Amino acid sequence: MKIIQDWIEKYPLLNELVATKEVFWSNPKYQSFQTGFKQLSLNENDVKDAEERLKRFAPYIAKVFPETRELNGMIESPVVPISAMHQKLSHMYEHPLEGRFLLKCDSHLPISGSIKARGGIYEVLKHAETLALKHGLLTENDDYSILDSEKCRNFFSQYSIAVGSTGNLGLSIGIMSAQLGFKVTVHMSADAKKWKKDLLKSKGVMIVEYKEDYSKAVEEGRKQAQSEPNCYFIDDENSRDLFLGYAVAAIRLKKQLEDLNVTVDEDHPLFVYLPCGVGGGPGGVAFGLKLMYQDQGHCFFAEPTHSPCMLLGLVTGLHDQVSVQEFGIDNITAADGLAVGRPSRFVGQTIEPLLSGSYTVSDNELFKLLTALADTENIYLEPSALAGVIGPVKLSTEQQGKEYVQQHHLKDKMKNAVHLIWATGGSMVPAETMDEYYKKGVKLSL
Ligand SMILES: *Cc1c(COP(=O)(O)O)cnc(C)c1O
Repeated sequence: MKIIQDWIEKYPLLNELVATKEVFWSNPKYQSFQTGFKQLSLNENDVKDAEERLKRFAPYIAKVFPETRELNGMIESPVVPISAMHQKLSHMYEHPLEGRFLLKCDSHLPISGSIKARGGIYEVLKHAETLALKHGLLTENDDYSILDSEKCRNFFSQYSIAVGSTGNLGLSIGIMSAQLGFKVTVHMSADAKKWKKDLLKSKGVMIVEYKEDYSKAVEEGRKQAQSEPNCYFIDDENSRDLFLGYAVAAIRLKKQLEDLNVTVDEDHPLFVYLPCGVGGGPGGVAFGLKLMYQDQGHCFFAEPTHSPCMLLGLVTGLHDQVSVQEFGIDNITAADGLAVGRPSRFVGQTIEPLLSGSYTVSDNELFKLLTALADTENIYLEPSALAGVIGPVKLSTEQQGKEYVQQHHLKDKMKNAVHLIWATGGSMVPAETMDEYYKKGVKLSL
């Protein structure tokens, strides 16, 4: 690897990134949908296949997770207008903001209360289906609620699942795997909150704790899976299945926006702001959104100033060959869901031609936004999930944001724009913890 100084000379933005200042980057490798998609190994059929699989599992999900019955076993979250927060943002950042503001509440997804209830659960289900089909417990035409039986749980108990996580992925995979009957081990990084570990232990999930960060937890999970026969490792750094599970969100979102009479077309651009850790969640969703909206959909990633791994990987083109620590950035953030020092290569390379840009946001700003959203909309999110909220402000005030709007001839369309902020987690945070977050934001806003 070149020495850091050489990289900074080549890409001056890295100067601010290394100083953990907030930055906004518009992606020079962004391409039109038609050109960008030609380079990819995944397509619309892969997403549809994932959607179909989730449909097959819906009767089972509805049976074992009663909170999903209202949607017939579909694990989905609402989209809500946030016009009071829109006003509040204009005031906070002293800048008028055009367009419509919507919040995608993955914070309130059933089962595990975060975006990980998409990819994480999907991959466990896919693995379970593969095993059950292979061993004659199931055919694709069966009602999958038959999996909720002593016989099937006994069958699955011969198999184990392992995963490395900062908390939320472990929560999703742990809950789903345990429900099916799998033996499951979650390797938790130092960031993982005690309440998440306690919750999983109460469901019989094995927890292994590390004092190191997420990359170490993943590495150890991978090792466990290699040494144990019948152990399946869910690889957050490389998994196509996780990615496709997340991508299904886009197909459903399209329907939700239509139901809300929200138009997305040539004159009504859609901007989406996605909090990013290792990249699978936001990458999968962005991939799906580009399939749905092509050049009318503009996706931006948001990362903490202390964990900008995806941005570092994209700017340098090094992807997983670089960590924020190698650039002297500590990867310590209150946004525990985003506390990742090394990004996914698979996601970085897949998203490279599709992503409009990316920005970083400080922890203090996340807490202020947490409190502001609670005050204006009565919606409580975990710190990570606020990273997207500041996106429209960044886009319209930062130099590279304004240039992006200019270059893509969007300036006079901004009044018709739809800003969709992806709220990625929070509904399962214990009340006392949420209260501390809220008070922190109050203090910082004074
Ligand atoms: C995991 C997570 C993300 C980001 O997903 P990645 O796949 O790690 O990029 C965003 N927000 C929350 C709350 C998360 O738990």
